[in-house]
Amino acid sequence: MNNIVKTDVLIIGGGPAGLATAIKLADLLKENGLQKEILLVDKGANIGSHILSGAVLKPKVFGELLPDVNFEEIPFDCKVAKDGMYFLTEKCKFKMPFHPPFMSNKGNVCASLGELCRFLAAKATEKGVQIYSGFAMSDILYENGKVAGAKCIDTGVDHHGEKMENFVEGTSVFAKLTIFAEGTRGNLAKKLIEKFDLERDSNPQMYSLGVKELWSVPENTIKAGEIYHTMGYPASAEGVFGGGFIYGLTDNKVAIGLVLGLEAADPTFDTFKAFQIWKTHPFVEKFIKDGKIIEAGSKTLPEGGYYSQPKYYTDNAMIVGDSAGFLAMPALKGIHLGMYSGMAAAQTAFEALQKDDFSKKTLKLYAKLVKKSPIYKDMYPVRNFRAGFGKGMIMGMFHFGTQIVTCGAGLFGKLKAHSDSSETKPLSEVRKPLYKDKTANFVPQYDKVTDVFYAGVNHDEEQVPHLQVNNLKSYNEINIPNFDAPCQYYCPAEVYELHTDKNGHRELRIHAENCLHCKTCDIKEPADGITWNVPNGGNGPDYKNM
Ligand code: SF4
Repeated sequence: MNNIVKTDVLIIGGGPAGLATAIKLADLLKENGLQKEILLVDKGANIGSHILSGAVLKPKVFGELLPDVNFEEIPFDCKVAKDGMYFLTEKCKFKMPFHPPFMSNKGNVCASLGELCRFLAAKATEKGVQIYSGFAMSDILYENGKVAGAKCIDTGVDHHGEKMENFVEGTSVFAKLTIFAEGTRGNLAKKLIEKFDLERDSNPQMYSLGVKELWSVPENTIKAGEIYHTMGYPASAEGVFGGGFIYGLTDNKVAIGLVLGLEAADPTFDTFKAFQIWKTHPFVEKFIKDGKIIEAGSKTLPEGGYYSQPKYYTDNAMIVGDSAGFLAMPALKGIHLGMYSGMAAAQTAFEALQKDDFSKKTLKLYAKLVKKSPIYKDMYPVRNFRAGFGKGMIMGMFHFGTQIVTCGAGLFGKLKAHSDSSETKPLSEVRKPLYKDKTANFVPQYDKVTDVFYAGVNHDEEQVPHLQVNNLKSYNEINIPNFDAPCQYYCPAEVYELHTDKNGHRELRIHAENCLHCKTCDIKEPADGITWNVPNGGNGPDYKNM
């Protein structure tokens, strides 16, 4: 790309939502004989490199997006054939006699979401969409106070921000319409939401962190399409919302993972460690015994639901997919909703291109289309679900029960939610023993650095560190003494190390090269927090089968 590029529509992010936007818009333009340019950029080295999901998904949306494609051609792994839900205690398991409401996976399929994205990218390219992977967008461009595109990160800059011999200024991509599809806690979507105060009428978003491993296992360990979900141990003992999954895939592979809410009060709570503990439960262990790990990774999910969604359009811009919180709990399904949001954004973009008017007055069509789409049907009835679990499992079950009989309203109408960072409490206010002390003797099968290896993570050595402690003074004075530097626990990649020198002085060291781009630090760190900025394009994990 040259240093300045102009296009009609810029889509930032090559996940399912961004690609669905591109495909649908390309089709609408072709059907109506309108010649416009669509440019899609992704920060991963390749499309799919940064994509990680369970994934058991609702396949219908693929047929609606690609009516001209033979359904058999879509690379789903297998159909769900057996679906069990178990409640775990430390040593035992109890099969639940029925699926909790909204959690049945009848008719769903297992897949590698990365593979599906590569398939969608190939279809989008055939339809004329220009796709560039390895391009990291670091800033939004504005003209007259309105979004005018985005700029790629400058490269050839050293640790201190000094230009080196190989300095290249990042390309500025000016677009009539910019669509933010960056996934959970998108770094530009976050800036956009803040600048235009798009969350002013919403609850704060509530997130979870999912840790996943893909294993190759001996034949007959688990059948393809055999899936299990677990509740209870080890999350319930910590008062944390969430559970585990075990998905049998073709070629004797099994995907296992634990997805836990990030609202833990204990600043030493560690989802990765909880995942390794969960793997030692006899019910889980039997599925990976004698197997070998193939790949590993982590990602966050926006679980807050309908009431935690920002307004997802402003002048010249729309937000789609996880960046706008299109995910329905309790089914923990967001892929199809992200794609439907992309299709609604594409229809809106088409209308805007026809009228050559990209004002929010025109783009409000997006919100109307969302309301008419399957998104509303999936998200509105469970609009209070996740906030109801904000004060623990028992209150959560009570709220959920009342919501079921009141079509989602519950007894109290719209429930309030709190940001995950504000839920992190100082050590002095947390019930003891701390999670780190309770689990001090546990030796995990894999440590965090080993799983980083299995995520294929790579970052250029010379660049400005992409993780920024927002206020070092307050970090040293508040986060270290009062909270014990929570990032050293919740980060699933051991990026943060609290180093103690021989005089007992403690300081945070950051190993940014390990980062899995899960954004937990941007979400969970209390006080002045940490900001996740985008590193050089092509940096980060390189998921191949996730
Ligand atoms: Fe996730 Fe932040 Fe750790 Fe990177 S540094 S892996 S974004 S918690």
